[in-house]
Amino acid sequence: MPNINWFPGHMAKARNQVQEKLKQVDLVLEIVDARIPEASRNPMMNQIVGQKPRIMVLNKQDLADPQATARWLRYYQDQGFAALAIDAQHAKRLNQISALARKLMAAKLEKQKARGIRNPSLRAMCIGIPNVGKSTVLNRLVKKNIAVVGNRPGVTKNQQWLKVDDSLALLDTPGILWPKFDDQLIGQKLALTGAIADSVFQEDTVGLYGLDFFQTHYPQALRRAYQLTADDMALSAPDLMVVLAKKLGFGDNYNRAAERVIFDARQGKFGPFTLEVPDDDAEGL
Ligand code: GDP
Repeated sequence: MPNINWFPGHMAKARNQVQEKLKQVDLVLEIVDARIPEASRNPMMNQIVGQKPRIMVLNKQDLADPQATARWLRYYQDQGFAALAIDAQHAKRLNQISALARKLMAAKLEKQKARGIRNPSLRAMCIGIPNVGKSTVLNRLVKKNIAVVGNRPGVTKNQQWLKVDDSLALLDTPGILWPKFDDQLIGQKLALTGAIADSVFQEDTVGLYGLDFFQTHYPQALRRAYQLTADDMALSAPDLMVVLAKKLGFGDNYNRAAERVIFDARQGKFGPFTLEVPDDDAEGL
């Protein structure tokens, strides 16, 4: 993804573009990163999408903690969304999107049938912040054939639609919106998972956040990854970072250790993880 500067003018433009496209679709696939389902959402998503039916697509399921993903799916379903976890990279569970769309839109499809349309079909678009996997979803879902459809109310002529199957077509370009930046913790989650460009955050802060997180929530995985002792694990995160820098051969270069923690987290060295659970989840993280 290009490094987009989301200053207010850009935000308004992005929003307008998405709202223009929304007029042409029956439903929305909101793509989020399953490791940070809320932090990877656009803060104005509900206002922008309005009443349009929506499927919450928790992508990068392969990188996320399966138990947390199950809780997030329940959370979105409880809020009245259709929700699904997928791994677009390895084309896993993608085929369930179309079936879920048909289920969600059953009433509309029935209406079309009643009007004599023999093969009723649905139009959808992907929306999400940069790097959640929108392009990957699009590329994996479509079977190459491009359906160009004009002459339909509300549909721009020559707008390209990518055919997923006989009952679902996707807009050829995804809607790109901005993440929440005003909250430091959210920024750290976005940085640790690679959703925002490395040039816009400080590695030492993000690395320390990551180390502290894994030390608290996935201690076994962290211990194994760096062969840490029980005594190491009992240290505070900043002290542990100092030990880690030495252990990794970086001497007292704390920043290099922090960079390595970020790199290893993204590479999956600590196994699958999820950085947040729903607010009202009594079990906590
Ligand atoms: P976009 O900016 O939303 O269009 O995101 P991209 O489709 O360009 O994906 C961003 C990065 O995430 C790329 O490196 C993809 O290979 C990777 N990616 C996308 N989906 C998945 C997934 O389900 N699992 C994993 N592990 N990586 C993914």
